[in-house]
Amino acid sequence: MKRPNGPVVAIDGTAGTGKSSVGRAAAQQLGYGFLSTGGLYRALAYKVFAGKVDPSDEEAVLAVAKSIRFSFQRQPDATLKMFVDGQYLGDKLTLDEVAQTASKVSTHARSRAVLTEKMRQAGQDGGIILEGRDIGTVVFPDAEVKIFLTAAPEVRAERRVKQLQELGVKADFDKILASIKERDLRDSTRAASPLKPAADAVQIDTSRMNIQQVIDAVVKEINKYAA
Ligand code: C5P
Repeated sequence: MKRPNGPVVAIDGTAGTGKSSVGRAAAQQLGYGFLSTGGLYRALAYKVFAGKVDPSDEEAVLAVAKSIRFSFQRQPDATLKMFVDGQYLGDKLTLDEVAQTASKVSTHARSRAVLTEKMRQAGQDGGIILEGRDIGTVVFPDAEVKIFLTAAPEVRAERRVKQLQELGVKADFDKILASIKERDLRDSTRAASPLKPAADAVQIDTSRMNIQQVIDAVVKEINKYAA
């Protein structure tokens, strides 16, 4: 099936493999849109937290998921900026507590189905890179290009420490490593859409690559489709 604006590109992988930076840069280079789908789970987590809902209460979380109005606005840097009930939540979604709650609420299959539908609406016309955990397996099993990024947990923790230091935030390597491993385990062992590479995904281990090398490798894969 040809899409009006070009291929759907799925980039999946564990936390801290550079999916977001790589996806955004590749999208800019190719003139595609870019959506970081973790943002939708983070937004759900934020709303669950703000509403004092128990993240393990499946029905209550589902009610929150159904109540959220998502809208997206394409930015000059290719990113689809996400508005949650008309509001841009920005930095509020980057907190580690939000990420941990996101990983908890994302275990509920019916809430996932609600957010999955929003992602499909945003991406179905193609010309877009979506980054997440289950894009190539569940959200767009028919994506024209599928990439799965991996990296050793220690390498990912080190990258996160550097990122935080650059932002002037003090970072504890051991804590970050433990948090990454906890999230990996929960994401890959949950019953609903566990994190795993699609059978037809191209796997790239980024442990020994710099960001530019990963961007180049991803762009090369996408160009193979376009050729
Ligand atoms: O990628 P990010 O760190 O923003 O994702 C936050 C959490 O959202 C992940 O740990 C994962 O549990 C969940 N997620 C998911 N499926 C996606 C994207 C994110 O389950 N497609």
